[in-house]
Amino acid sequence: MGKVDINRLVDEIVKEITTLGKMEKSKNETLVPIGVSSRHCHLTVEDFAVLFGKDASLTKKVDLKQPGHYAANETVTLAGPKGCIQNVRILGPFRKNTQVEVSISDAIKLGLQPPIRESGKIIDSSPITIIGPKGSIYLEEGLIIAQAHIHMSLEDAEYFNVKDGDYVRIKMMNENRPISFDKVKVRVSSGFVLEMHIDTDEANAANVKPGAFGKLIKPGDPV
Ligand SMILES: [Zn+2]
Repeated sequence: MGKVDINRLVDEIVKEITTLGKMEKSKNETLVPIGVSSRHCHLTVEDFAVLFGKDASLTKKVDLKQPGHYAANETVTLAGPKGCIQNVRILGPFRKNTQVEVSISDAIKLGLQPPIRESGKIIDSSPITIIGPKGSIYLEEGLIIAQAHIHMSLEDAEYFNVKDGDYVRIKMMNENRPISFDKVKVRVSSGFVLEMHIDTDEANAANVKPGAFGKLIKPGDPV
């Protein structure tokens, strides 16, 4: 048997990987980065003062991908008729309405049935109790399960040929758990950076790992 030329073999493998990389890049044109949202809470400045005290301030832990948005160091506890969830992160900046976003698994643990909604649409959503270190609040409405959505800039919308409010399909680029999300709302704003937001249940179902992408498919597009 002839001796294997290791150097040549390595060269060939490197060449092959480079070619695959290029192919991947040319196929990446309709790929959208995936961001997984854990359960979290948006607060009004007034509700924050009740939960943390009048002199407290919301402090930044880490910037999120969407410009101006950040995860705070401060956390709260959620309480429902069947249970509590601790260490729920507050996302800044403050909002006009307090809103809590959880997964379906979280809702089951709390014993509540929040609707699946677009962020900001809290009328007739689920009640929720929020507990902070200095006080607690009971909201008649404010708990939702966030509808999967894609943030994109005006340029991205033009590139994908979609508009604000459109629904698209996102096929997860995942061989072993081939899952598509069929009703993904497009949200276009000049301040947005391209990113699809799904919750932890959706991410687990599709075995989403950090750095994951999904393929954007419009009605009528070949799959
Ligand atoms: Zn989002």
